[in-house]
Amino acid sequence: MSTLVLVINSGSSSIKYQLVDVDTHEALATGLVERIGLAVGRLKHEGPNGDVVLEQPIANHEAGMELVLAQFAEHGPALDPATLTAVGHRVVQGGDVFDGPALIDDTVIAQIADLAPLAPLHNPAHLDGIRAAQAAFPQVPHVAIFDTAFHRTLPPEAYTYAIDQKVAHEFRIRRYGAHGTSHKFVSRTVAEHLGKDVSELNTIVLHLGNGASATAVRGGQSVETSMGLTPLEGLVMGTRSGDIDPAALFHLARQGGYSIDQLDDLLNRRSGMLGLCGHTDMRDVHDAVAAGDEVTETALKVYYHRIKGYVGQYMAHLGHVDVIAFTAGIGENDDIVRLGALAGLEKFGIVVDPERNAGRKKQITVISPDDAPVTVLVVPTNEELEIARQSVELVRG
Ligand code: ADP
Repeated sequence: MSTLVLVINSGSSSIKYQLVDVDTHEALATGLVERIGLAVGRLKHEGPNGDVVLEQPIANHEAGMELVLAQFAEHGPALDPATLTAVGHRVVQGGDVFDGPALIDDTVIAQIADLAPLAPLHNPAHLDGIRAAQAAFPQVPHVAIFDTAFHRTLPPEAYTYAIDQKVAHEFRIRRYGAHGTSHKFVSRTVAEHLGKDVSELNTIVLHLGNGASATAVRGGQSVETSMGLTPLEGLVMGTRSGDIDPAALFHLARQGGYSIDQLDDLLNRRSGMLGLCGHTDMRDVHDAVAAGDEVTETALKVYYHRIKGYVGQYMAHLGHVDVIAFTAGIGENDDIVRLGALAGLEKFGIVVDPERNAGRKKQITVISPDDAPVTVLVVPTNEELEIARQSVELVRG
């Protein structure tokens, strides 16, 4: 009998779901409920019989979950709760509380709620999804998988910001990191692919999607990561600035009269590649560069420069790097970025072979020459599978 997990990623007005067979790594169905609470909601269910799209009012997450169950019943695959090993829920912020998956009970729910000030857009939305799923599957164990958990191994020198520590403790300000599920999946997959134990490898994972982060992984443990208190810090992203001198915010508040909400909007939603050149999708960036747009060319250089800086930093922290792994939408699909981001690092043993690198990578692919000191790979991430696996590991003990 197969090991089935329903993976749920719930946002404030959405529920993303995937039914995963952990044994075969197959996604048996995927779907997205959107615009919950708005005048017209939308559901897309992709199952064995193709896609189904519905548009109708969806009052809340509970109504959304009921609609999801109805799609499984009507369009398949059959979803008998008795055959589900677990429901795995993605949770963005686990703070310094959760260092691994947690079986969801009232205490865990209270802890996730308690961490909401650190992730005000995410944690309350996850709880809506958890409650709705618990109502739909009351007999199945529900497991929370935290984006931050993989980074709980960061040493104090990596997670501590150099500010007044009384203030830091009072407001729980420290580096928590994000994308941990992906960084863990990728660093483990690399070791499996190279036939090594994860403890033998030092790896830099570059998760480059709309959101982007870099992690230094020593022997399977995250020891430094580019996202901080929130997923705003670090690399240049689609719409997020990544690193910036915080005094720029004082300056904007004092000289430009910006409110906290305006600053938040500026850095999280109007910065990054969008702010630099007006494009968030890397395909549009490359088109503009090819057409001779100098502003976009500079934007892309900023993007590379930041990645390269983190690679250098992590080489210094790790002392020795065996592997650099690209993942997520840009990391997996964009051969121009993979080449550009690591160009000029040959003296450090980091070489990308243009032929091996060419094209989109749907499966794990080595893109460095065989004799290169550092193995550079593309590893398609699979956060849903990782959530499903960790849920099963916890439930089965
Ligand atoms: P997230 O999960 O953070 O929303 P993804 O990991 O799905 O983001 O990455 C989305 C990004 O991947 C897009 O904005 C785009 O820049 C990039 N992308 C997707 N496909 C391609 C492609 N074929 N070539 C270049 N970039 C691509």
